[in-house]
Amino acid sequence: MTTPPATRLDAYIEAARNTAISRRLELDAIKKCRFDTIAVHGLYSMREALDFNQGAIIEPLYMCSSQAYRDADEMAAALTYQIPTWCYARIANPSLYYFENTLALLEGYGLDGETSCCATSSGMAAIACATDPFLAVDPKRPNQRINFVSTCQVYGGTFQQFAIRKAAERGIECRFVINSADLDEWKSKIDENTRFVYGEMPSNPGQAFFDLDAVIDLAHAVEVPVIIDNTVGTPVLLRPIVHGADIVVQSVTKTLTSSGFGIAGAVISRKNIVSRFGSDEMLSDFAMYLKTLPNRDNGQNLSPMNAILSLNDMRTLRSKVDLFSRNTMRVARFLEDHPKVERVDYLGLESHPLHALAKQYLFLVDAVYDAQYGTPVNRYGHLMSFRVAGGEGPTRRMFDALERIWRATDLGRVKSVATIPAISTHQQQGEEGREMADIPPNLVRLCVGGEHPDDVKADLDQALGAIDGKVQTQVPAAFSVGGASRASLENDS
Ligand SMILES: *Cc1c(COP(=O)(O)O)cnc(C)c1O
Repeated sequence: MTTPPATRLDAYIEAARNTAISRRLELDAIKKCRFDTIAVHGLYSMREALDFNQGAIIEPLYMCSSQAYRDADEMAAALTYQIPTWCYARIANPSLYYFENTLALLEGYGLDGETSCCATSSGMAAIACATDPFLAVDPKRPNQRINFVSTCQVYGGTFQQFAIRKAAERGIECRFVINSADLDEWKSKIDENTRFVYGEMPSNPGQAFFDLDAVIDLAHAVEVPVIIDNTVGTPVLLRPIVHGADIVVQSVTKTLTSSGFGIAGAVISRKNIVSRFGSDEMLSDFAMYLKTLPNRDNGQNLSPMNAILSLNDMRTLRSKVDLFSRNTMRVARFLEDHPKVERVDYLGLESHPLHALAKQYLFLVDAVYDAQYGTPVNRYGHLMSFRVAGGEGPTRRMFDALERIWRATDLGRVKSVATIPAISTHQQQGEEGREMADIPPNLVRLCVGGEHPDDVKADLDQALGAIDGKVQTQVPAAFSVGGASRASLENDS
């Protein structure tokens, strides 16, 4: 027989231990399930519903800022993290907890080990949260001129965060790898002052791709952590942590939540990441460290509403990414044969120079257990780009003529969306930056959604046909949408 706890504080700690044990058992049980089952249930078991959530079969939205405590002992134990707590929603909230654990399990699917996740207010916040702790001053070497190494073909916002916010404003050297398929270039840029290596694959919009295993080996050989933006691949096609990467960042906004309801991000990490810089606490469980310390103090966390919307969208992730990928392949093949199209970049096409490499990495998760496939199946996602023959003018005319495909700076939607990166997502990085990342003015990024691909092809065909037609010049007399414009911002200030 166990002795009863000596004090009220001990009783709380013991109750917390019992909860932790039963949650641990639930975690072990769900980890034995397939990807789809994890995406549907996560940690939200029937027991979790009955014990803590009034039996609600769907994870409740805890639209709530903080938690009440029974007494001073419980409050003290909670705020020193001796017992689990939803103390204050900037730090912890049950809706976020269910979302974070599901995503941690999906990014860690197939890993012999554990992952954890810290949700953030956006993908850009996730990138800042994942990288900034590695860029702190080393008290033992206060004058060290530190650097980090990144693929130059990154999302436009990432390029700005690295080149302006970190390099220009803070004096941290950002070393862009121009040709990420060239391992010697990676090697030449990593040195004893390198704090992390960062890569986006497949990149948005260029679909750059590199030999992830080899880059991880290079970085880990000199104890440098590897951070990967897995927004475009999603854990359905690629799980960088399973390959050995230390940290994954996600713009949850995109493919993970194809509905487009809101902005969200996440940092997912393995336990005991490789890094010669950083405290034991930071390295042993990086995402949990972020959650309980830097993010508590900096406050870039997600709202419970967006966590629940994101969680709900992720339940069918595998079948969605499969559908979107198959549709994209058909649209890419159609564009490849179109006379008004100069070039199509899609990793799934044999003509793409990185196709063979991508084929080694991008697989539809669990295809072997799928009654429809029963064997490993390559899928290449739903991001592609194409270049319109004749340059910028014809590109804009084609773009303006689209009727079904939405003109927007967005990707990962269940609706097909197109953008011209040079005038939108990658406008800020300037001509030189765009040249380095190979983003010419006639490049169109296209993300194919869940429509029937024949209808997407028909829209592209008529829009490409409109290049030689009459130019429409009608603009609205007044703008029906508000928001930030340079004119309105100037009026405001
Ligand atoms: C959109 C995007 C981001 C930024 O995410 P937000 O949620 O918009 O902040 C980062 N990386 C990639 C690859 C993206 O497409």
